[in-house]
Amino acid sequence: MIKMNFPTDIIARKALEQHFYNSLRGAFEETAINNLLIGAIYNGIQLDLKSILTASFDELFNISETIKTFFIGNIARYQDFCNHFNYDDFRHLLYNFFIEEDIKNNIDLCTCYYCNIDFINTYDNRATYINKVDFLNRASQDELNQIPGISNKTSVLIINQRVISPIKDLSLSFMTEGKSKKILNFKLQHPKGIFTLDHFFPQHSFKTISISLYNLIPSCGPCNSRFKHAANFQIGKNTTYMSPSSNNYVLGEFQVFGLLLRPGKNISNVKNVNDIYLTYEDYLFGQEEFLEIFNIPARYSFHKKEAVKLILKFQRYPQSNIDEIERSLKKSVDRKTIMKDLFGSDLFDEISSNQPLAKLRRDIANQIGLTEQLNS
Ligand SMILES: [Zn+2]
Repeated sequence: MIKMNFPTDIIARKALEQHFYNSLRGAFEETAINNLLIGAIYNGIQLDLKSILTASFDELFNISETIKTFFIGNIARYQDFCNHFNYDDFRHLLYNFFIEEDIKNNIDLCTCYYCNIDFINTYDNRATYINKVDFLNRASQDELNQIPGISNKTSVLIINQRVISPIKDLSLSFMTEGKSKKILNFKLQHPKGIFTLDHFFPQHSFKTISISLYNLIPSCGPCNSRFKHAANFQIGKNTTYMSPSSNNYVLGEFQVFGLLLRPGKNISNVKNVNDIYLTYEDYLFGQEEFLEIFNIPARYSFHKKEAVKLILKFQRYPQSNIDEIERSLKKSVDRKTIMKDLFGSDLFDEISSNQPLAKLRRDIANQIGLTEQLNS
């Protein structure tokens, strides 16, 4: 329910797409692919590997169909072409690309773009080491073994050495110059990702676009494996609104979560989860299908308490209390910052808009008048 926040600047977006293509092209037989495609025209332009990998979301389906039509009557040749696009052969490179772009802040990996419940993020085991000497003194044997060219025997020698006295530099007497160099060249930065890449257009029916940038959605395990694996989107006029990688994705902007109160209740006397119901809006764009595929209503029933927490806070801090806080701080902290500190910056900040449950909290904040209060 969160739109993928690719750079909005055209030059930065093109640079990201070029980085994607550069990251992968070496692993493809590019000349063979481009030769097989000679004569395959999409929108008046000759298709090639780059155009397939970096096509916008809205072009993907038509490109896939153009390729199928181009090879019609020649199944063997089509099969030969498809064999160049085995997702497993590129998995490692694709993950690295998303991690690198996350580090550059071009793609914000934070929560699953489909459900906005689970965290998806990067982590780095080695980031806790200050420098190489610190690494030699504190790393586990498994970690020492990750240095290319350092054998199990050498890592045991390193551990034995540091038991006697802390290692002070990289030139250890029991190591050859070659091995010292290997440690010197070893990169301490080694980020990994906790996410899966879902194919919006499933791999088995759309193999030729299975490695295309905008067909890949960083998502949590349940969304990818359990829910979407069991039911895929119907391809049609609503498809453009359904993928977080699409420029036309609407679920992020439109209200998804509705708030209904138990009879006799109003915003000022809600006390607990039994006083409210979450409802789900059904607009024209096929949201119902999205919510059904990812089992959103059932998965969010547990998170209803987040909506209640927000309402209770809203009761505690009416506008008059916030005015009072602002006065007591003698304008040293502006009203917006006070509101963010009290209610959570994910309600107001673009930068933290991808926090878990941010979509639910934002929709509830709009309905109870909290967002209006901030803007007043
Ligand atoms: Zn998810």
